[in-house]
Amino acid sequence: MAENSIPKEAAFQIINDELMLDGNPRLNLASFVTTWMEPECDKLMMASINKNYVDMDEYPNRCVNIIAHLFNAPLGDSEAAVGVGTVGSSEAIMLAGLAFKRKWQNKRKEEGKPYDKPNIVTGANVQVCWEKFARYFEVELKEVKLREGYYVMDPEKAVEMVDENTICVAAILGSTLNGEFENVKLLNDLLVKKNQETGWDTPIHVDAASGGFIAPFIYPELEWDFRLPLVKSINVSGHKYGLVYAGVGWVIWRNKEDLPEELIFHINYLGSDQPTFTLNFSKGSSQIIAQYYQLIRLGYEGYRNVMENCRENMIVLKEGLEKTGRFNIVSKEDGVPLVAFSLNDNSCHNEFEISDMLRRFGWIVPAYTMPPDAQHVTVLRVVIREDFSRTLAERLVLDIQKVLHELDTLPSRINSKIAASIGENVDNGTLVTKPSDIEATRKIATYWRKYVLEKKKTNGVC
Ligand SMILES: *Cc1c(COP(=O)(O)O)cnc(C)c1O
Repeated sequence: MAENSIPKEAAFQIINDELMLDGNPRLNLASFVTTWMEPECDKLMMASINKNYVDMDEYPNRCVNIIAHLFNAPLGDSEAAVGVGTVGSSEAIMLAGLAFKRKWQNKRKEEGKPYDKPNIVTGANVQVCWEKFARYFEVELKEVKLREGYYVMDPEKAVEMVDENTICVAAILGSTLNGEFENVKLLNDLLVKKNQETGWDTPIHVDAASGGFIAPFIYPELEWDFRLPLVKSINVSGHKYGLVYAGVGWVIWRNKEDLPEELIFHINYLGSDQPTFTLNFSKGSSQIIAQYYQLIRLGYEGYRNVMENCRENMIVLKEGLEKTGRFNIVSKEDGVPLVAFSLNDNSCHNEFEISDMLRRFGWIVPAYTMPPDAQHVTVLRVVIREDFSRTLAERLVLDIQKVLHELDTLPSRINSKIAASIGENVDNGTLVTKPSDIEATRKIATYWRKYVLEKKKTNGVC
């Protein structure tokens, strides 16, 4: 920190200049997080920027109430859903996980059984926050492996992995990797059966970070929420398809008993008795105001229109990519509106090169490898948000075609996939297994250039 202050104009200029170097958030197709809201809502957010969340009674409760209804929480004298606003789904998941862990421990203590080895069953496709929860709060994560062509948790395998130490099975409504909805209903039915056979009462949590604001509007018949008896808690990110800027998530418990009382703190130094169950005490309240704005401004009709529109733009993009004949689509039409795709096997390029080259057009499209046992599959992923129009979808297809064309005319590029497979022929039969080795890479590059030129001569393609 400098000894002296600087003029406010100078401080503003310095930071404003540097911010110009950040990518344009609206062209960042990697993120599910909202990048556009109506100006009226921006105004409300600015007006509440100096308010602390802990001083607000009404708005968080109203949002919890609306979202609990949206997720079909049972209503009645004996059952009443409870919930809290969080910074995002990660915090929501920490809280939900803690509730499951404490509930399981209490039961085990009562039964006089050991309670030191809790575990959670999930698919290997879980978002990193589950791994964080597991490590921070000392719960073993038992992951159901994926396989090529199947990128979500297999409910049968998940239920097989459940044992007496399982605090919950976490299903995902909208896998981060390909947007696919896991089959929560089948999971529920299989788990009901297993619980009957074993006498356990293993519950389900649904991580609906991205799907929680999609399914109720465009797949209302799909049973994934509190309509299923074993679903005890659900989280959703307000800042994804809840259509609010970054900084808000929600977790809803089916009823009071699903949230152990001992985790709730009661404070009275702000005026009235106030129950609190969050990791942080103070935080901004603008996002909560914005969430409330969206819920009352859009209603069912508005959310349905936005989600249907996203789905239509997803289909425009998907069909455009299919038409190139160069990609396999690994996302589903039903699910979170995104397109995940990999190059055909006979391609000479890889997905990372495409991602890299799209940056030149301003697009941020991530490429990543799938988790075990599908780690040999690489995909590119485009998330369709409210502000991604049909025009942009068509423009992106054109730019991808340009990139493919450019790659096709660049024979000197090393393709690691093919380079590795031809590695055996390099250096008089010495097997080159580490293309990261500089010497070896050079040899492969030389060989590859010759190989491509040969091939081009013979059949016009690499
Ligand atoms: C984004 C996401 C999360 C994490 O949510 P944040 O709101 O970013 O903390 C968790 N699970 C899934 C399935 C997600 O897509």
